[in-house]
Amino acid sequence: MNETLVNNQNHRITLADTGQSFECGNDDVLLRSALRNNVAFPYECNVGACGNCKFELIEGEVDAKWPEAPGWTAKDRERRRYLGCQSVPRGDCTIKLRPNPHYAPIHQPKRVTGTFMSRRPVTHDIAEFRFELSDDMWFEPGQYALLTLPGVSGQRAYSMSNIVQGSHAKVLDFQVRRVPDGQGSNALFGTLAAGQQIEIDGPYGMAYLRRNVKRDILCLAGGSGLAPMISIARGVAADPGMQGVKLNFLYGGRTPRDVCGRDMLEVLENFGKHLHFDAAVSHAGDGEQWGGHTGFVHELAESMFGDRLRDMEIYFAGPPAMGQAIQKMLLARNVSFGQVHFDQFY
Ligand SMILES: Cc1cc2nc3c(=O)[nH]c(=O)nc-3n(C[C@H](O)[C@H](O)[C@H](O)COP(=O)(O)OP(=O)(O)OC[C@H]3O[C@@H](n4cnc5c(N)ncnc54)[C@H](O)[C@@H]3O)c2cc1C
Repeated sequence: MNETLVNNQNHRITLADTGQSFECGNDDVLLRSALRNNVAFPYECNVGACGNCKFELIEGEVDAKWPEAPGWTAKDRERRRYLGCQSVPRGDCTIKLRPNPHYAPIHQPKRVTGTFMSRRPVTHDIAEFRFELSDDMWFEPGQYALLTLPGVSGQRAYSMSNIVQGSHAKVLDFQVRRVPDGQGSNALFGTLAAGQQIEIDGPYGMAYLRRNVKRDILCLAGGSGLAPMISIARGVAADPGMQGVKLNFLYGGRTPRDVCGRDMLEVLENFGKHLHFDAAVSHAGDGEQWGGHTGFVHELAESMFGDRLRDMEIYFAGPPAMGQAIQKMLLARNVSFGQVHFDQFY
C-alpha cells in the first residue's frame, strides 16, 4: 500500500453514553478533530497546560504527543485520562467525555497555510507579525490560533489582534512578546523569513466578543495579552450593532516602556467618546517619565469602577499571575463569572 495512505488514516472516535462520534486522522488530535466536526469538546489553552480537555479512554489506544505536558499528571495516566489537545488516535477509540454546548465552535477550526508577510515593533519586546492565509479563516474578536513554527516542538497559541473585515478573512495579525529562551517566540523574532510558510490552525478560544450583550465593556490587558483585547476593541468599533456600548481599555505593564496599545485605539472612530484608554505600571522607576497610574491593572480597575464592575462585560488576557489577581478581585466584588471572559495564557 502507498505510504501516504498508511500515514493518513482516519479513525472513529465514539463518545460513550452520548451516541456521538467523529473522525480523527492520525495527523490530528482528538480535541481539535472534535471541534472541526462540531462536537463541543471542553478546552481552554490547547497547548497541554490547563488540563481542561481531559477525557477517559475506555477502548482503543492513543499516543500522547507531548508526554511531559504540565497538564497531564501521573494520576491521570493511572486512570487512563488523557489530554484531548495532545492525543493522537492509533485506531478507533471509545472515550468518556461530557460535551458542553458552551464549547460548540462558532467557526469550525481548520488548518491553513500562512505566509509570513511582515513584522513591526510594538514595544521593546513585543512585535506584530502579519500572515496571509491560503484560505479564509473566519474568527471572532478575542480568539486565537495555533502556529506550527520551524524547529519548534508542538504548536504555540497566539491571539489575533485584527478582526475579519467584511468578507476578507485571509489575514491574521499576532502581537507576540519575545520570551527569553522561548522556542516559539524566538522562532518568530529570529528565524522566520518573509515569504516563509507555516501551518496555522484556528480559530480557537471562548473569550470572544459577545455581540449580543450591550452593557459597558472592560478590557484588561497585561504584557503579551494585548492582541485579543485590541481585537475586541476593534470588533466593537466596527460593529454597527454595538455603537452605544462604552469600552474602557486598561493596560498593565511592568515599566513605562512596556505600555502599549493606545495608538491602536486612538485611530478608532469612537476613541474619546465611547472608547477610553488608561494604563498602570507596577514599577514606575526613577529615571523614566511616568505621569500615569502606578500599581497593578486589577487595582486600577477596582479603583476606577468599584461596584460598577458588576454591571460590565469583562474581558482579560495576560500572564497567569495577572489573571489570578483579576479573578480574585472580581470574586471579592461579587462579579458574576458569566460576564467575565478569558482564555488563560500559559
Ligand atoms: C490561549 C493562549 C493565547 C495566547 N496568546 C498570546 C499572544 O497573543 N501573544 C503572546 O505573546 N503570547 C500568547 N500566548 C503565550 C504563547 O502561546 C507562548 O506560551 C509564549 O509565546 C511562550 O512560548 P515560547 O515557545 O516562546 O516559550 P517556551 O517556553 O518554549 O514554550 C512555552 C509554551 O509552549 C508550550 N509547549 C512547550 N513545549 C511544547 C510541546 N512539545 N508541545 C506542545 N506545547 C508545548 C507550553 O505549554 C507553553 O504554552 C498565548 C497562550 C495561550 C494559551
